[in-house]
Amino acid sequence: MSDTVLPGFLDAHVHFALIDPAPLTAGGIARVLDLGGWTPQGSPGAAQPAAVFAGAFLAAPGGYPSERSWAPAGSVRFVAQATDAAAAVDDQLELGASVIKVTLNGDAGPVLPPEVLAAITRHAHDRGAPVLAHAEGAGQALRAFEAGVDALAHTPFSERLDDELIAAMAGRMAWISTLDIHGWGEPTDDFDRAVENLRRFHRAGGQVLYGTDLGNGPLPVGLNRREIDALLGAGLSRDDVLGSLTMEHLGGFRTVLRGPAGVGGRLVTVLRGERPVDPSAFSGWLCTARAVSPTDLAPPHA
Ligand SMILES: [Zn+2]
Repeated sequence: MSDTVLPGFLDAHVHFALIDPAPLTAGGIARVLDLGGWTPQGSPGAAQPAAVFAGAFLAAPGGYPSERSWAPAGSVRFVAQATDAAAAVDDQLELGASVIKVTLNGDAGPVLPPEVLAAITRHAHDRGAPVLAHAEGAGQALRAFEAGVDALAHTPFSERLDDELIAAMAGRMAWISTLDIHGWGEPTDDFDRAVENLRRFHRAGGQVLYGTDLGNGPLPVGLNRREIDALLGAGLSRDDVLGSLTMEHLGGFRTVLRGPAGVGGRLVTVLRGERPVDPSAFSGWLCTARAVSPTDLAPPHA
């Protein structure tokens, strides 16, 4: 039985600054989107996942995650007023960032006011970069949406969003799943709320990206089977799950998630054997994934 070769799998929410990324490719991840606190040091090795990144978290002075012990020194850029927004965005793009990350955590501290958030979003869009938000606490997902934010770094978990808002968000937003951080397999209210929101967002046609928030808690460094099972549990079909892992666009930003072509070309993902017919074997099969350079694939038998 021959192996299955697919476009490189993407984890759309990682924090390289908080993990050792070495096992990622053996665990099936070919591309990552780093959502805060990391910029590349030196050139990546051939076996490293291709990394697209946000650079610093843009936050209100004193805002999340500046108060967290895990936030690396210098990883949060405070944006006090609308006139500071352009420089904050430009500085990240200067370092090679392709996306901008803002934080709106009303449970943890001050959040960016609407005019500052809108100024960040406007300037990022002028420069061709999408904006992703960490939205946490009542009303923060709505505030991100109203300010023109393109994607939520987490499926909303603080509250149940109403159908009308979810339908509007599905029209022009992407959500990164990160379901498994809520309990790592143990039941939690945040997990249940997130799954319920994601189920309706997906049904309404919203773009869902597989992402784990790697670096946040005890997550496997590689494809996370619990995250995949949670996506299936939220109503994504097996094809939808494959789509969420192989996405290259973020809303209207067509190729932002593709990542730079590294040494030896972009990695591809190889799965053992062919896709199983039995639905219950699907997530186990996905977890046989490894990311390899196309040049390392065994040549076909003559
Ligand atoms: Zn994160």
